Amino acid sequence: MKTITLRDGKERSLLRRHPWVFQGSVAKGKADPGETVRVESADGRFLAWAAFSPSSQIRVRAWTFDEAERIDEAFFTRRIEAAVVLRGRLGIDSDGVRLIHGEADGLPGLIVDRYGDLLSAQFLSAGTERFKQAIADALVAATGCQALYERSDSGVRQMEGLEPVTGWLRTPASGAPSTEVTIREHGWRLTLDVAEGHKTGYYLDQRDNRKLFADLVRQMGLKTALNCYSYTGGFSVAALAGGAEHVTSVDSSGPALARASAHITLNGFDASRHEALDADVNGALRQFIKDGRRFDAIILDPPKFAPSAAHADRASRAYKDINRLAFKLLEPGGLLMTYSCSGGIGAELFHKIVAGAGMDAYVDGYLIKRLEASPDHPTTINYPEGEYLKGLAIVRK
Ligand code: SAH
Repeated sequence: MKTITLRDGKERSLLRRHPWVFQGSVAKGKADPGETVRVESADGRFLAWAAFSPSSQIRVRAWTFDEAERIDEAFFTRRIEAAVVLRGRLGIDSDGVRLIHGEADGLPGLIVDRYGDLLSAQFLSAGTERFKQAIADALVAATGCQALYERSDSGVRQMEGLEPVTGWLRTPASGAPSTEVTIREHGWRLTLDVAEGHKTGYYLDQRDNRKLFADLVRQMGLKTALNCYSYTGGFSVAALAGGAEHVTSVDSSGPALARASAHITLNGFDASRHEALDADVNGALRQFIKDGRRFDAIILDPPKFAPSAAHADRASRAYKDINRLAFKLLEPGGLLMTYSCSGGIGAELFHKIVAGAGMDAYVDGYLIKRLEASPDHPTTINYPEGEYLKGLAIVRK
């Protein structure tokens, strides 16, 4: 077993059970990509068993802080079973569930979503890549799902020195199923394609927020909704399910919008109640203002503007801009649910950005709820970086 020795003082984060060690903290030691290493402090104390990643800034990702634990097939079986058991206890009203959420589940770099009987996984670190087969077997055993699709085509693999990989990793004896699945989320039905969709196919982190949106639209009797960065229209279906008369979905992806339109009719709503706009959101919002349009409910769920804290400044301006425009388009008494999924923008900073946007638009609002990802995307106490999705529900004064 190879040993990685840290520089003096650099053991602190592992001692706090934070799973990462950055390149600059390593004094000596080398290993192959994904190889399991023993991590020691400068004075030779055991800190963790970890996966080594020679090309990543995050040089070491801890598997365990328990010296007696071995990193073998049984290890992955234990971690995956524990993660699946937790999801079973969360009372999730959907058969689309995030089963493994990386570091929070003690499996750095592994993302697994379940869509009905199908699993869709991303192996995003050298360690998960190396143990891929053991992980795939453990996933099948823990869930009973025979079909596992790999979507390791995220850009972050590059930083780990890994090529993109997609395709079936496990299939039932009867052969590969269709990559197209229909899930049931709350009361409605949604389709996705694990081979073509964003990430693993769908954005499960907004599941509970889509339900909340439907509930608020109903409670407040909101009639017109605007869903910005709609993807396949989950929030649009929620708006109509909540009793809105009309919803507009805006996205720059044609295939996502086509699916959004299909979801409206799949859920029993007349197509005339939905408008799909293939456009850049910023431009669309400006055009709506020019046209004098107003909405009772607006969703702003943009992609990650700040992948890291280094991009925070430019991202802040981009968030402020769309939020300012949205405030101007919101009817008095209307609801804005606005999000950031940037790890580099904390909840407090996001609040400030939205406050600044309100100032610039001369609009005030009641902050009725702080929003976050659904609980199957957990964070842990020791790993605050896991908190990426934050949002605010605001009712315009
Ligand atoms: N709210 C969605 C998820 C949104 S993901 C849900 O509940 O499922 C972000 C979406 O923003 C993606 O669909 C992407 O195609 C879209 N997008 C990215 N940049 C955009 C832009 N400048 N204008 C419009 N849409 C954009």
